[in-house]
Parts: sequence; structure tokens; C-alpha cells
Amino acid sequence: MSKKIIVSCPICHKQIIWEEKSLYRPFCSKRCQLVDLGEWASEENRIASHANIADNENWSEFTQD
Ligand SMILES: [Zn+2]
Repeated sequence: MSKKIIVSCPICHKQIIWEEKSLYRPFCSKRCQLVDLGEWASEENRIASHANIADNENWSEFTQD
């Protein structure tokens, strides 16, 4: 007997089941997750450049400490 938790996607308010296979919870899909982040319009470019910047900053912060 497993209890199911239903949540509403914050973006489109579609109802989804909160479970392991709902990868983008609380969003219904990757698209809604990206809309929430404001990155859906240029998804690949932003993720790629953001990752590079984050890596560099983390490294310099760690070495300076
Ligand atoms: Zn949604």
C-alpha cells in the first residue's frame, strides 16, 4: 500500500505524481523546469557557458582559500 502524492506543476498547473520517475518534479516536464529557471529559450548555450564559468570560479575560490 503506497501513498501517492500529487503535486501541481508550478508553471502549467498540470497534476503530476511525486515519484522517482517524475524526474522534473515539482515540474511536469523538463520544459516547465527550464521555464521556471528562465533558461528555456537558449537552453544549450546557457547550460554550457554557465557550467564553464561555475567551474572556473569554484576552482579559483578553493585555491585562494
Ligand atoms: Zn508543467
